[in-house]
Amino acid sequence: MKILVLGSGAREHAIILALRAEQTEHEIFVAPGNAGIAQDATPVSLDPLDGAAVTAFAHEHAIDLVVIGPEAPLVAGVADALRVRGIPVFGPGKAAAQLEGSKSFAKRVMDAAGVPTGRAVRAATTAEVDAAFDQLGAPFVVKADGLAAGKGVIVTSDRAEALAHAEQYLPAGPVLIEEFLSGPEVSLFFLSDGDTVRALSPAQDFKRALDSDAGPNTGGMGAYSPLPWLAEQFGSEQAFVEEVTRDVALPVVRQLDAEGTPFIGLLYAGLILTPAGVRVIEFNARFGDPETQIVLPRLVTPLSQLLFAAASGTLEDQPDPVFSDDVAITVVLASEGYPESPQTGRPIEGLEDAASVEGVRLVHAATASPDAPGGSLIATGGRVLNVVAVAADFRTARDRAYEAIGRIRLDGSHYRTDIAARVAE
Ligand code: AMP
Repeated sequence: MKILVLGSGAREHAIILALRAEQTEHEIFVAPGNAGIAQDATPVSLDPLDGAAVTAFAHEHAIDLVVIGPEAPLVAGVADALRVRGIPVFGPGKAAAQLEGSKSFAKRVMDAAGVPTGRAVRAATTAEVDAAFDQLGAPFVVKADGLAAGKGVIVTSDRAEALAHAEQYLPAGPVLIEEFLSGPEVSLFFLSDGDTVRALSPAQDFKRALDSDAGPNTGGMGAYSPLPWLAEQFGSEQAFVEEVTRDVALPVVRQLDAEGTPFIGLLYAGLILTPAGVRVIEFNARFGDPETQIVLPRLVTPLSQLLFAAASGTLEDQPDPVFSDDVAITVVLASEGYPESPQTGRPIEGLEDAASVEGVRLVHAATASPDAPGGSLIATGGRVLNVVAVAADFRTARDRAYEAIGRIRLDGSHYRTDIAARVAE
């Protein structure tokens, strides 16, 4: 197939590596990509937010499938522009992407579909925020309504801090005050063709910047899959997946279809397993980052086959995706100062040495080619690289990932040392 992937992060690199790992060879283009992705796909100079330009390129190059990585092109309506022209695209249209783009839209759809989630109150003024805090009690959960790259949410017992966070977003519109939910978090991805869904393997990510879940929320500092502890609570991973498919994914997809805005793409359910049952804390309308980096290396079914079936409304004909028994972990290497004020432009060394560790692959998030030939790659963002390690067990996977990340040199960089520590004991 000729496939065009939109995006420039580690998630897109992971998608491309999975497409590359298939037995069938594909011709893969990426817009815009990064220095690492450029080794695995052909970069094209195309604004991924420009629906007309993306459509023209896809048409001109007879692209069989467009895969939209990040949320911004979805919310900008790029999938709609492609679909109007009959080009198969994996990614929801603007209307369905509101599931991620607007937390109050997501709450409304969940309520209409009867999906279990925390109670929430919309607050437009400081007084309303205060009243909602009284109603729902501590700890306080405040969520900005729009896209905030994982930074719009605060969970704190400090009422003044929670209020200050709300006030920061209030000028732009109402915020959501949510009931605090307690329990382990799980990310579960569903492929959807607007009617049928197919679940991928559960994963857990680590959102806080520092070990032991300290420090500020980030886009994600690491992840692992599968989750062996799910079996303790649900009997098996399969039973968990079936419950969430039945109670969360299918009702939401059917609700959006009934509203005339079918969800075609990746439905990411962010879940908390509370003592009272599974609750949705958020939806995303695209593959999660960093979970994609560890879910896709375990996928045995060809990814292109699944994405194309979703894009073309034939998921019903697809058997459930098959995963290997291997485990996978990823550790994110972040620039100094991430997430508050990442220092960029610094050289990265030791990549070849790191990639030579058995079972390890490097997935690039924010890298650029050196200015001079023969120089080192340059870090261009907060989350720079993912070190992904695959092994038969978590202890080996952790050993491999941390051996590899220790070989990378980037001045001032940091990473968490406790990714998957609990399951490796
Ligand atoms: P979100 O962007 O909605 O996924 O929120 C980011 C993080 O905040 C989540 O991964 C949770 O760790 C935390 N969080 C969000 N909503 C809640 C909630 N209702 N109760 C407890 N923690 C939450």
